[in-house]
Amino acid sequence: MKSFVLAQSIIRRIKQYVPARGIVATNNASTAAESRDPVRVTNAAGGSRYVIVCEHASNWLPPSLGTLGLDPSEMERHIAWDPGALPVAQRLAELLDATLVESRVSRLAIDCNRPSDAPDLIAQTSETTRIPGNEGLGPEAREARIALSYRPFHDALAAQIDSRLAKGRAAWIVTVHSFTPVYKGVSRPWHIGIIHDADERLASPLLARLGGVSGIAVGANQPYSPADRVYYTLERHARLRGLPCAMIEIRNDEIADAAAQESWAKRLADILSGIEESDLKPGMETASAKGTRRSA
Ligand SMILES: [Zn+2]
Repeated sequence: MKSFVLAQSIIRRIKQYVPARGIVATNNASTAAESRDPVRVTNAAGGSRYVIVCEHASNWLPPSLGTLGLDPSEMERHIAWDPGALPVAQRLAELLDATLVESRVSRLAIDCNRPSDAPDLIAQTSETTRIPGNEGLGPEAREARIALSYRPFHDALAAQIDSRLAKGRAAWIVTVHSFTPVYKGVSRPWHIGIIHDADERLASPLLARLGGVSGIAVGANQPYSPADRVYYTLERHARLRGLPCAMIEIRNDEIADAAAQESWAKRLADILSGIEESDLKPGMETASAKGTRRSA
């Protein structure tokens, strides 16, 4: 056991000194996989006023990080990504003719939807799972993680938004996430949650229209709220520019297969495409408002 721990510690030290993507220029296959593009922009010229964002789209890790000391099966769990979120975001963007910006690296390497000073930016524990490969990282290792996906993702998203605004085009930012049905032993009753802060221009009509769909429980700032520091992408890119925005969280058992993903994407596309500029009025909720709207 002692030698295992020692070996892990040595491996961890070696991993800390693996240079970030782009620094190594070789031709062999393993480093080619290392250099996967960390962010993908689809339909940049899309005609929709919406920009769809998916920060937790992928569970991919560069080979130099291995599985961060986790059993490979852990990489399929919600701790590594948001299962089902990307297919919904892709289909939603298609239906709306919207631009989609997605991160293609696991949140376990670094979480693009966290402030850079958040304790869970590079989580050492996710839910109740220890992430050995994220323990004891020095400044160089942290910078390598930022260069791996955090900076490229935020740079790409900012470039998309700024380019639209420079052309006088609207940019309404909607992020798509999924959440686990049970977290730390507690069941979550909502099928979907809309997360927002004091700017409810988009969240308010979204909540109202989702509330009118029969048979689903809709959470306002559930299962999280901006107070949980999960609103970073929108704070950085939408709120600072005064753009309408909302974060959509769908319970992942609701989007577990292609038919269910299609159904949610269609429902959300119908609702989002029906929201007009004139609908963007301040609502009655406050930033801290939490609640459930259960339709009949
Ligand atoms: Zn997420």
